[in-house]
Amino acid sequence: MNDHIIIKGARQHNLKNINLNIPKNRLVVITGVSGSGKSTLAFDTLYAEGQRRYVESLSAYARQFLEMMEKPDVDSIEFLSPAISIEQKSISRNPRSTVGTITEVYDYMRLLFARAGSVHCPVCGKLVQSYSVQQIVDRVLALPEETKVEILSPVVRGKKGEHKKLLEKLLKDGYVRAVIDGELRRLEDQVDLDKQVKHSISVVIDRIKMKEGITRRLTDSVETALTLGDGLVEILTDEGTSLYSQKFTCPDCDISIEEIEPRSF
Ligand SMILES: [Zn+2]
Repeated sequence: MNDHIIIKGARQHNLKNINLNIPKNRLVVITGVSGSGKSTLAFDTLYAEGQRRYVESLSAYARQFLEMMEKPDVDSIEFLSPAISIEQKSISRNPRSTVGTITEVYDYMRLLFARAGSVHCPVCGKLVQSYSVQQIVDRVLALPEETKVEILSPVVRGKKGEHKKLLEKLLKDGYVRAVIDGELRRLEDQVDLDKQVKHSISVVIDRIKMKEGITRRLTDSVETALTLGDGLVEILTDEGTSLYSQKFTCPDCDISIEEIEPRSF
């Protein structure tokens, strides 16, 4: 029954000891002739009790700044949430005003969403996370000893072209291997890519066997991979590949999402 607010024995002002259940998450209208106690029920009973309980939950220090409403004359109210009330004669005439904006609760909601919310890709709905270098390194360090790990930097992701210049530059910069279209290739070998086909190229930055004392080297390699891969790094083990993003990027859809801020909402 907790999808209802259950009021028993409401006697504030002219209310005649009434019991009623009000459904939650609905728009509920209280109607009646003048003087029948609509406002008494809404403001002086429901809101008063919701406000009273909320204020009571705060510290004595915080309480002194808030106006405490009188306890309404009612036997019990169950499943009541903290309440907000807006009077009929509201000051705002902006047609775009909502309960959230008039009461300024919206500002806190935005702050809450921005700080505690999780981001999902607008296309595939997958959870999008951003990792710091330290978080990525920690994930790799959690792998069992002796695990062979390759750190790759995805430099081309599903892009048409021969990518000749890029491959030459990688070789010149001292990189030896790359996974090209899913195949491990040596960069010094002639790599001919079809201009009309989409390709993916991930440069092998480092190959490490998990053991003590590799944190420094691992961190350097992850940093290099992220720089080269524009915020992306692939960690390859026998178990498969994990792709980490330093930004809010959906690796599947290649969509980057701005870091969420209160103004995003
Ligand atoms: Zn996606």
